[in-house]
Amino acid sequence: MPAICCEMEVNKQYSVAYKGLKNSSFDFVFEVDDALFVAYESKEILGGNCHVEATMLKGESQLEFDFTITGEVTCECDRCLEPCQVPIDYEGHLIVRISDEEGEYDGDVMWLNPADNEVDLTQYIYESIVLSLPYQRVHPEGECNPDMLARFTIATQAEVDALEAEAESDNSGINEGDFNKLAALKAQMERDAE
Ligand SMILES: [Zn+2]
Repeated sequence: MPAICCEMEVNKQYSVAYKGLKNSSFDFVFEVDDALFVAYESKEILGGNCHVEATMLKGESQLEFDFTITGEVTCECDRCLEPCQVPIDYEGHLIVRISDEEGEYDGDVMWLNPADNEVDLTQYIYESIVLSLPYQRVHPEGECNPDMLARFTIATQAEVDALEAEAESDNSGINEGDFNKLAALKAQMERDAE
C-alpha cells in the first residue's frame, strides 16, 4: 500500500522526539514539499514548498511551540482555474499537553500520552498552511490564462444578462405592490393626523 507508506514517512518527517530533552528551549526546522499535500489529498493545494521554523519550550507536563511558516503553494486560480502560486506567511502557537487524559485536538491544544516518545506535528503544519491561504487565490492582474478567461467571460456575461432580465421582471411587480402599500399607508397617516 504505497499511500500508507508515504503517510508514515511524512509523519516521521514532522515529529519531534521530546523525551530525554531537558526542560528548556529548542529550535527545529522542517521543510514541506508536495508530499505533505499529497498525503492529505488536499483539494485546495496542488503542491508547494514551505519552510517551517519551530521553537519548542519543554516543560514538565507540556510542550509549547511557536511556529513560523513561510513559502509558496500552488492553488487553482479563482479567475482562470489554471495553477497559480500563493505565498504563505504564517505565525502560530501550539500547546501540547502531556497527560493520560485524552482531550480533543482543537488546533490550539494537542494532547499527548506520556507513553509516546514523539509528538507528531504533521497535522498541525498541514492545517496551518491551509488556514493561512488567502480568501482569494488569483494570478497577479494580467497574468491569467487569456483563453480560459475569454471562455468564462462569455459564459458569465450571458448569465448576467439572463439574471438581470429575470430580476427586472420580478422587481417591477414587487415595486408596484410596495408603492401601492406605501401610498395606502401614507393616505392613512394623513387621515389620522387630521
Ligand atoms: Zn488566473
